[in-house]
Amino acid sequence: MTAFVFNEVNFDNHEQVVFASEAKSGLKAIIAVHNTNLGPAMGGCRMWNYATEAEAVRDVLRLSRGMTYKNAVAGLPIGGGKSVIIGNPKTDKTPALFEALGEALERLGGRYITAEDVGTSPADMANVAGKTKYVAGLGDRGDPSPFTALGCFVGAQAAVKHHFKRDSFDGLTVALQGLGHVGYDYARRLHEAGAKLVVADIDQNSLKRAQEEFGATVVDVNAIYDVEADIYAPCALGATLNPDTMNRLKVKIVAGGANNQLATPEIGEVCRQKGILYAPDFVINAGGIIKVCYEYMNTPEDGMDAHVRRIGDTLAEVFAGADAEGVPTSVIADRLAEERFKK
Ligand code: NAD
Repeated sequence: MTAFVFNEVNFDNHEQVVFASEAKSGLKAIIAVHNTNLGPAMGGCRMWNYATEAEAVRDVLRLSRGMTYKNAVAGLPIGGGKSVIIGNPKTDKTPALFEALGEALERLGGRYITAEDVGTSPADMANVAGKTKYVAGLGDRGDPSPFTALGCFVGAQAAVKHHFKRDSFDGLTVALQGLGHVGYDYARRLHEAGAKLVVADIDQNSLKRAQEEFGATVVDVNAIYDVEADIYAPCALGATLNPDTMNRLKVKIVAGGANNQLATPEIGEVCRQKGILYAPDFVINAGGIIKVCYEYMNTPEDGMDAHVRRIGDTLAEVFAGADAEGVPTSVIADRLAEERFKK
């Protein structure tokens, strides 16, 4: 028998990996609890038409580990976990499917708390909530994306301060990819702070709005990497920092909300060698999980804005540490997380 969990390249001493199924609804889910040293594991539930079971395992192991790092660096009292449902989110969703997931979470007794993610919605999470209280971000108290955008903005401020030794965005150009929930709000903040925007998206309506509201210049989706700009802000896809784009980007800073921006860990070192200050993705994009965690834990929300803004301080620390040691910012960010969650 091939042992494909313990041997999988993304396996990282995960505490628990649970395969959950239910015949009537057709649920096939995998729940990965990476680490609970800081608190119960929290992370979204992704629904995806995985080609193979091995692909689903790989994804859930990778994503759950990432949540441990993100939650730890954000200073939250939670660990890292993630779940995936194997199925087509366009055709296979039923309330019973998500109720069955809720029952599976209930059996875990609170070691893992789920939330919406790619392929799932607040409505799906409401079905999960019919069977368990271990579900966050039900959407009844608002979209977390504006908090992710705020984190990106204060992160970009910290990067500008570190690299250009100044506080203002006046006259700086930002090449922003993806004007979605996070990207649009981030673009608005950058525009209000005086930055010039060059934007790309596949959605023509968002582009039109950004032209009208922010005076943004629109470029083709493939041309965003070639723009003469000071900052590249990836807010759509993963792995846009890769060997091809590293030869094209002319920017001094990368500061955006997308997950998994580095195609491989080695790209962190390529950024350093090219003099590009990379704001590690899981540090800069933690605003949304901060909001979801506050909601779930019923933490008084008067401190939430300041908590999200501390992303800027954390990044300043990461940038200074990377300079002092001559290592990539991604290495310092990983270490910062590990110092917090490893016992
Ligand atoms: P979204 O789906 O609302 O927005 C994505 C945008 O990217 C859309 O406007 C889409 O048209 C555009 N897009 C798709 N393909 C593109 C391409 N090839 N070139 C340019 N644009 C393209 O998603 P979102 O919630 O704004 O999230 C954006 C990114 O941030 C994702 O990587 C997500 O995982 C990450 N993220 C989001 C949050 C959050 O709070 N929403 C939190 C952490 C990380």
